[in-house]
Amino acid sequence: MRAFVKTGTRPGEAGIEDVPRPTPGLGEVLLRVAACGICGSDLHAFNSDPGFEWVEPPIILGHEFSGIVEEVGSGVTEASVGDRVVAVAIQGCGECEVCESGSTQLCPNRVAVGLSRDGGMAEYAVAPARHLVGTPDGLDLSVAALAEPLAVSVHAVNVRADIRPGDKVVVSGPGPIGVFCAMLARIRAGADVLLTGVGKDAEFRLPAAERAGIRTANLSDAPLEDHLRREFGGDAPDVWVESSGSVRALDSAIKSVRPGGSVIVVGLYAEDMDFSPTFSVRRETSILFSYSCNLPDYENALRLLASGDINPAPLLSKHPLENAPEAFERVRRGEAVKAMLEP
Ligand SMILES: [Zn+2]
Ligand SMILES: [Zn+2]
Repeated sequence: MRAFVKTGTRPGEAGIEDVPRPTPGLGEVLLRVAACGICGSDLHAFNSDPGFEWVEPPIILGHEFSGIVEEVGSGVTEASVGDRVVAVAIQGCGECEVCESGSTQLCPNRVAVGLSRDGGMAEYAVAPARHLVGTPDGLDLSVAALAEPLAVSVHAVNVRADIRPGDKVVVSGPGPIGVFCAMLARIRAGADVLLTGVGKDAEFRLPAAERAGIRTANLSDAPLEDHLRREFGGDAPDVWVESSGSVRALDSAIKSVRPGGSVIVVGLYAEDMDFSPTFSVRRETSILFSYSCNLPDYENALRLLASGDINPAPLLSKHPLENAPEAFERVRRGEAVKAMLEP
């Protein structure tokens, strides 16, 4: 079968290869992949960026995929041939206290699909049956493959954050997670939402978010204070969702929310930051972290996509699997919000 494989540890050492079709083991299924999204973490692994040294080639990348069950391994009771499913990206052991509490994404023995085991940028992929989520009837499988980034946003906005009707919410970082967080804050609580970006975001990502009906601000055009004055009439944000992964943006978030406000941190950061606790103590700022997502978040995400409450069309671009190297380059240049590979 054809697959996009990270073949070595040098940056960009990856390509489309012919590899043996995998066979499902005990409790596993073989999926015929319908679509697999390119995520920021795939790009980091592809570039062998700091923090991704543990990814061991050869490995098939991709954790945002949907497919149809083609074959079931022994002992599988949860899935049957023909089922249309999405595989959970971060898979807990299912046995420890953390998994039993429901937070499988925090399991100390978790498996990261497409990073620590072969992923979905291929014609076929194997997945444990207990980590599959059924897709609602009629939902396009290319859209269903967005369940992972949307579920990460559901976890941040609907589970971790406490956004009230009429709240003024800033979301920083116009990648897929940020755009979905902005959409969710608006539809969940009718919040007044502003999505911010910088520099090259103005070329593609902020306009794509605008097409999806989100108000945006380019902080390279004017300082944050000017945008807040214009958009929120000078009121400080009640809530800030930081999804850009920039410590500068996180610093702005902590300093900008109103006294008693909250900051939800869903980005991953390559740098450390200086943090002055006393400033936040005196303002009783709630700083909450949100990591990945778990099975109920996927179910919520798929419901939102199937009902049409979340319309991802303006964010989505489709590419044949064979063009994966070019699609990765487009994502790297910020020219795509969510690039979807189709085998
Ligand atoms: Zn992802
Ligand atoms: Zn566990």
